[in-house]
Amino acid sequence: MKDRFQRNIDYMRMSITDLCNLRCRYCMPDGMTVQKVPMSEILTYEELAEIATAGIALGITKYKITGGEPLVRRGCTNFIRMLKEIPGIEQVTMTTNGVLLEEQAEALRAAGLDAVNVSLDTLKPEVFEKISGVNLHHRVMAGIDAAFDAGLRVKINTVLQKGMNDEEWLSILSLAKDRPIDVRFIEMMPIGYGKQFDPIYNDDLQAALLKIYPDIKKDDRIHGNGPATYMKIPGFKGSVGFIGAMHGRFCADCNRIRLTSTGKLKPCLCYGNTYDIRHIFTENPGQDSEEARNRQSMLIEAIRDAVENKPEKHCFEKLSEITEQKEMVEIGG
Ligand code: SAM
Ligand code: SF4
Repeated sequence: MKDRFQRNIDYMRMSITDLCNLRCRYCMPDGMTVQKVPMSEILTYEELAEIATAGIALGITKYKITGGEPLVRRGCTNFIRMLKEIPGIEQVTMTTNGVLLEEQAEALRAAGLDAVNVSLDTLKPEVFEKISGVNLHHRVMAGIDAAFDAGLRVKINTVLQKGMNDEEWLSILSLAKDRPIDVRFIEMMPIGYGKQFDPIYNDDLQAALLKIYPDIKKDDRIHGNGPATYMKIPGFKGSVGFIGAMHGRFCADCNRIRLTSTGKLKPCLCYGNTYDIRHIFTENPGQDSEEARNRQSMLIEAIRDAVENKPEKHCFEKLSEITEQKEMVEIGG
């Protein structure tokens, strides 16, 4: 459906858990007070599927499963299958830290997952431990290989931090050389703990890249649903993508809405206002077809309301205007 700025909203980022097996210092650092959300407040897979069905009625046909870490929630693969069976669904993809991907990649592919984004900030195990709090770099690397070998489309998402991994960006980019894996650099966003870090600007990376590879070309092929711009380096099988979160340039093409694992629709990353839809399930728990139909109408209206109230653009450049107080781990990126 179109929002009031005539943007076509066809993509939902659906968080299925706010738990995570890593402690990335800019997202959910070790020692962060985590309020345990009772499982009864987390949307069930059946409820999430009903929400997707309502979304599809409004033209929201592409779903990204996120978290926390989506692969720590039991039954995630079956949920992917459930989503893929909903008539009208076009695409189901996932973003994961990759730690549990090696053992689940084949099953995810068999369930119909269309693509996977793996977050990888470093090629050095010791730096990985500094960033994420755990010594599991080898598991992520094995997860990337397993996903690729299972036939999933794979993208790497990298967030650079000054003095931590910023010197590594060219070696991380080399993951796009021999296999058709896109490597994307995401600017650190001032949400939650991300506020404590200075972003490395993608403009600077692009300028440096142009000096090293003067033949680099803009790559206009569609690579996914997101706001990344892509470049093609001659001789590389994958592309390099840039998500320049900080300068607001992608807002005019924004196509998305977010859903937290506790059932809050979130029109924009920057602002704290949300639309609760879990109450639709708690107030209308009946399983007969008439009640299910009523729930569908209410869900459709709630999603329409949230989409219609999407703000025109984010306000990351003016920190004092950011009203989002949640951590990224609760939002899903
Ligand atoms: N656990 C999964 C993962 O790491 O891919 C999914 C959730 S995670 C919140 C989604 C993405 O958000 C990750 O790629 C992570 O690097 C990114 N992220 C977290 N905090 C961020 C921040 N402040 N700025 C930019 N990206 C951030
Ligand atoms: Fe977990 Fe992903 Fe946040 Fe890292 S970025 S703490 S893996 S949710």
